[in-house]
Amino acid sequence: MKTENYFTLKEFQLNNNCPECYSNYGLQLTFKQKISDTIFLKAVTSKTINKMHCNNCNTNIYPICWDSDIERVVAYHQRAVVTKRNLWKLKPLAYVFIAVDILIILAIVLIMTDAIRL
Ligand SMILES: [Zn+2]
Repeated sequence: MKTENYFTLKEFQLNNNCPECYSNYGLQLTFKQKISDTIFLKAVTSKTINKMHCNNCNTNIYPICWDSDIERVVAYHQRAVVTKRNLWKLKPLAYVFIAVDILIILAIVLIMTDAIRL
């Protein structure tokens, strides 16, 4: 069981012309960073993606539509954006799993050292 989520790292308003509606005030560039979410662990990965959206014509602007000016601006922001460090957090189930492991190991040790007789 594993899902992949993204959280918004940074948003920029661009002054470039929208390839769809040619407005020069609607473009918004969003950088998102990936979170890996499993039953044991939630972790921030180093992977980022970017998305461009025009708030004027309400259209997602895909890289195939970008002109060289937009590409330059995206590359500039891509270099400037600082990703979150690889943070991770154990979920409660992971602690239960670790606790059970410790109990099993403890039981084996006690049985092998004859502290407990079956
Ligand atoms: Zn537009």
